Amino acid sequence: MTALEAGSPCALCSLPASVAVEPLRRALGRGPDPVDPSFSVTVLLPSIPLCAEHAADVRRGTTFIGWCDDEHCRIYGEADETSPCGQEFEKLKVRK
Ligand SMILES: [Zn+2]
Ligand SMILES: [Zn+2]
Repeated sequence: MTALEAGSPCALCSLPASVAVEPLRRALGRGPDPVDPSFSVTVLLPSIPLCAEHAADVRRGTTFIGWCDDEHCRIYGEADETSPCGQEFEKLKVRK
């Protein structure tokens, strides 16, 4: 659990988040930097803000968190649901 920025909404609904969980696979590799190909880019996933109810679901394993790494999304959502860009959210493991 980490401190939350005030006013963050839950990643899975629009309720105010009450906890933040950390994704286990926090760093995602992303290949060469489009601006300078001699560098490779890694993205660090932010903590996942969740409301009390979704945090309990994730702990129970009834809901899975997903991440869409499309450059237009890069957001959390419910795993296997369709993200705004049309791809499915990729399931992530989280620290419980
Ligand atoms: Zn929620
Ligand atoms: Zn997407």
